[in-house]
Amino acid sequence: MKRYNICVIKGDGIGPEIADEAIKVLDSVSDKFGFELNYEYFLMGGAAIDVFGVPLPDETLEAALKSDAVLFGAIGGEKWDNLPRNLRPESGLLKIRKSLEAYANLRPALIFDELVNASTLKPEILQDVDLLVVRELTGGLYFGEPRVKEQNRAYNTMVYTTDEIRRIAKIAFEAAMKRNKKVCMVDKANVLETSQLWREVTTEVAKDYPEVSLEFMYVDNAAMQLVRNPAQFDVILTENLFGDILSDEASMICGSIGLLPSASMGGKVGIYEPIHGSAPDIAGQGIANPIAMILSAAMMLRYALNENKAAEAIEKAVKAVLKDGYRTKDIAKFGAVEICTTSEIGSIISDYVKKI
Ligand code: NAD
Repeated sequence: MKRYNICVIKGDGIGPEIADEAIKVLDSVSDKFGFELNYEYFLMGGAAIDVFGVPLPDETLEAALKSDAVLFGAIGGEKWDNLPRNLRPESGLLKIRKSLEAYANLRPALIFDELVNASTLKPEILQDVDLLVVRELTGGLYFGEPRVKEQNRAYNTMVYTTDEIRRIAKIAFEAAMKRNKKVCMVDKANVLETSQLWREVTTEVAKDYPEVSLEFMYVDNAAMQLVRNPAQFDVILTENLFGDILSDEASMICGSIGLLPSASMGGKVGIYEPIHGSAPDIAGQGIANPIAMILSAAMMLRYALNENKAAEAIEKAVKAVLKDGYRTKDIAKFGAVEICTTSEIGSIISDYVKKI
């Protein structure tokens, strides 16, 4: 029997609640498809600061590096917001992504037919929307040196190398090959030299994928097109800062932040996490939506463990559960037949997985 080691970082706020539900569903699916998942639990973020004084303890990083995949809840909260930047929860997240060389962030924007009214966009705009944002995650402005804040002046540096661009472009084209064979590279090449380099390198990479069409779009236009006509996109390839903003915009097309998964990958070990944060405002109330976390676990099965059938079973179970009207509070007003707690909907999805 195949056996995989999963480093589980539940994190802060609703992180532990939603991670438990993902594990429930993973147990169900691993039983069904005949593989074993060995979970090891580690601290990061605020929970780690409270115990170790740092957001990413060495033992967590070492365990992550030795694992087959990292399943990650969410971190952060007001309690730790006033610490110096290098001790805040999010610096742990940036460090683990960098250390695992998780340079590619994949965020699918999924439309569930039953939740089409949860979006702020009109249903007709949402028809046929199926897009994937591929965001560069370990370069650009968030990591560039020098970075300085003086009293009357501050600056950051946006820097990219051809290697950094080439490897993420390949991931975007590979993904497009499995989808609708379109890549739209988003940049600001009319003003930024880094964007001009992105265009040159991506054009080179595109030559290896003659079946995939490549277009370029300025980021301001892309932000507009995402709400005007999101169905025009298949794979959006972009750098770190633009991707941060556009992937949040794309996710809101779908209605609830509690539904969307992500994968941060490319290096030896990938991190699979919901797109939302630790939602301290609803933590401990049993009302968090665990679906984004459960779908992140499905991405882990597909991209890290190559257990594609198991991933599909989870995705089908989530669709079926939503179709049958089970809803957590955040999406209750959109066709709920039964309003469920975090744990109840996790159990229902886990039961549906067995039946699929
Ligand atoms: P957030 O995503 O945590 O919450 C935004 C809003 O969405 C809140 O009203 C919250 O209740 C709701 N929400 C989020 N996830 C939900 C879910 N699964 N089910 C139902 N409702 C959900 O963003 P925020 O409030 O800006 O940040 C809270 C904390 O999370 C901060 O400390 C922030 O730094 C941190 N954060 C962490 C990550 C991460 O760990 N990857 C990402 C973003 C923010």
